[in-house]
Formats: sequence, C-alpha cells, structure tokens
Amino acid sequence: MTAVIERLARLKRIPTVSFHPQKSLRFSVRVLLATAVLILATSLFSYLTAPRIPILGFHGIQGLNNPQPGMTQTPIAPKMSYPQAEIEKLLDYLVSHHYWFLSAQELYDFFIAETQEIPPEHLGQKPILLSFDDSYKSVYQNLVPIFEKLEAKYGQKAKAVLFVNPGTLAQPNKPSTTYLSCNDLRAGFQSGFYDIQSHGLNHKNLTQISPADLTTELAAAQTQLRACLAGIAPPDAIATHIAYPFGASNPQVEAATAHYYQSAFLYNSRILRFCHLKNHYALSRLSVNQAKSAQRLIEMAERSTVMQHQHPC
Ligand SMILES: [Zn+2]
Repeated sequence: MTAVIERLARLKRIPTVSFHPQKSLRFSVRVLLATAVLILATSLFSYLTAPRIPILGFHGIQGLNNPQPGMTQTPIAPKMSYPQAEIEKLLDYLVSHHYWFLSAQELYDFFIAETQEIPPEHLGQKPILLSFDDSYKSVYQNLVPIFEKLEAKYGQKAKAVLFVNPGTLAQPNKPSTTYLSCNDLRAGFQSGFYDIQSHGLNHKNLTQISPADLTTELAAAQTQLRACLAGIAPPDAIATHIAYPFGASNPQVEAATAHYYQSAFLYNSRILRFCHLKNHYALSRLSVNQAKSAQRLIEMAERSTVMQHQHPC
C-alpha cells in the first residue's frame, strides 16, 4: 500500500510523508488479531473435545404398530410421541452394546458435581440418559414391556428417568387412561426400570408465575412424589432433580429451584458437555420427536464419550 501511494505521489510530483507509524500500528493490530484467533481456537477446541453425554428427552410412546385392547394412544401432538417400534430398535442397540443407562443421581454425582469417581464396572462404557416427560401412561404400557423383553434377552437392565407432574397423575377418584398413576410409578420403580424425578407440580411455565406459585410448583411436586414412593424408596432417592416444564427458566427460577433440587434440566436440543460445569441448573437435553429415527438416535448415542478413566475431566 505504501509503495503504491509513494508511486502515485511521484507521478503527481507532490511531497511524500513517512508511513512507519502506520506500519507499527498495523503490526500491533495483526498481533492482537492473531492472539484473539488463538484464544478462540483454543476455546473451540476445548469445547469440541469436552466429554459429552446425550440426554434424550422423550414424551409418550405411541403403540400404533402394536395395538392391544385397552392400550392408550397418547393424546399429545403426534410429533412429540415416539413410535414403540423405533424405541425398541434404539433400546435393543443400547442394551446389546452395553451402554450405561444413567440415573439422574449418577449423572449428578459422577459428571456434574464430580463428587464421586466412576465405579470400575462402568469403565469402558458409554453413558446415556433417557428421559420421559409429562407422566404419560404409555411410558408404563408401551415401554416397560420392552425393558422386560430386553432384560430376558440380554440379561441387562435399561433405565428410564421419568420427569413427573404429580398434579396430573391419575387418582382413585380421578381415573385416567392418559396419565400414569402412583401405582404405575411404584411398580416401575420396584422393577428397577424407573428413576422418578420432578417436572413441577402442574406443568406450569415457572418463568410466568408468582414467587408463591413458584415455591408451590417446586416444593409440592417433590413432597407428593416422595409420598407416592414412600416405603419403597428413601425420600432423597426421589425428585432430587427436576426438568423445567417447557424447558423454561431464568435466573430467578434457577435460584428458587436450588432450594429444593440438586440439578435441573432444560429442553434445548443441545448435547451435554460436562466437565467442570459451573451452573448445575441449566443442563442440556436433546429433544426427541418422530422425525428422529432410531438410527439417528443411535448415531447421537455413539457420540457419547467412552469412560476410560475414573476422572473423565
Ligand atoms: Zn413437559
């Protein structure tokens, strides 16, 4: 550039000035840019190479391919319920490939709070967490039989984390073919297939209610779920973690949630990258609907990190 200007100046026979200060400025700008690019590249590299765990977020399970008398079709938008035949393919793959089906507490202890070492029996496994929101009866009717079938076939147990709204559960005086009952939760828990966690009392958007309602949604959900499982589970094994209804949260909701729960999940379609997470109240979950085939979910699962060490971070 300087040479061009000098040449132009000679042609026009006008005096030239020295551009050395500009050269030094340009050098400083280049150094700054290079440093910024290096910092960005380093952060991107650590982000991309951070260990990750797919946390899949399902709703109901549609039994269209396997109708049985009395079997409920989920009333939720068809897109959000997942076909039974597809989830069976996914579960067959995960169980036969020796995946580690995490409970919410295992995820917290080993990967979020990092308070415990990974037990030796889980080294070499890929972890995954399968979650089911909104307390649909079909998670009992259409999912538990698959779990039982796979346990008989491979001698391995799969596990589902249920994020339950106790306010919508079927009651003796309010029977429902749509929603789970407390007895369904107890049966699934006693079989070792269910990990029962909270989804708020009545599925309200926690960012849009009064502070008093927020406390009720968080606290009463926990109390009622623990009462439902009384006698077969210690209280702190139930509803110690929550998934925000609609995935909706803000700093006020996170602060209130921290009074009752150890961790909280979003529904933001991102994979969880877990090392040294500062915020335990904004854990990423991948949304699942009919558009995601079992094969696509298997590919997501395959991107899970193999646990090679007791300290994955
Ligand atoms: Zn929900």
